[in-house]
Amino acid sequence: MHELALAQSIIEVVEARAEECAVRQVRTVHLRVGEASGVLVEALQTAFTMLASLSPVLAEARLAIEVSPHRAWCEPCASSFAVEDFIARCPACGTWSTRILSGTELQILDMEVGADPQQGGQEQAKNG
Ligand SMILES: [Zn+2]
Repeated sequence: MHELALAQSIIEVVEARAEECAVRQVRTVHLRVGEASGVLVEALQTAFTMLASLSPVLAEARLAIEVSPHRAWCEPCASSFAVEDFIARCPACGTWSTRILSGTELQILDMEVGADPQQGGQEQAKNG
C-alpha cells in the first residue's frame, strides 16, 4: 500500500512538471531508490504502471528505477563502506558511523518526453 501512495505522488509530480513544460506525453520517468529506503521496487513498478495507465500524459510512460547502494562514511578511516543489514559500522576499525552517504533516498532524476507534433518535435526534456 505504501508503494501505491508513492506511485501516486510520483505521478502527481511528473504530471505537474509535464504541464509546466507543455509536454503531452511522458515516455520514461527516471527514479533513484535507495536500497535502504524501504521501497519495494517491484511493487512500485506495478503500482506505477496501473496508475499511469489512467493518466493521459503518462499512459505510455515507463518507470526506470536505479537502486543506490546503502553506504556510510567512516571519519577515522576517511573512507566509505557498505552498510549491511542497517548496521552502519566500519568493517575496518569498528567505528559506528552516523554519516550515511546513500541508500536512503527517493528521488525523481529526470523524465523523457515524447515528440510534440504541434511544437515541431521536441524530443527530450531533462531536468537535474
Ligand atoms: Zn573505520
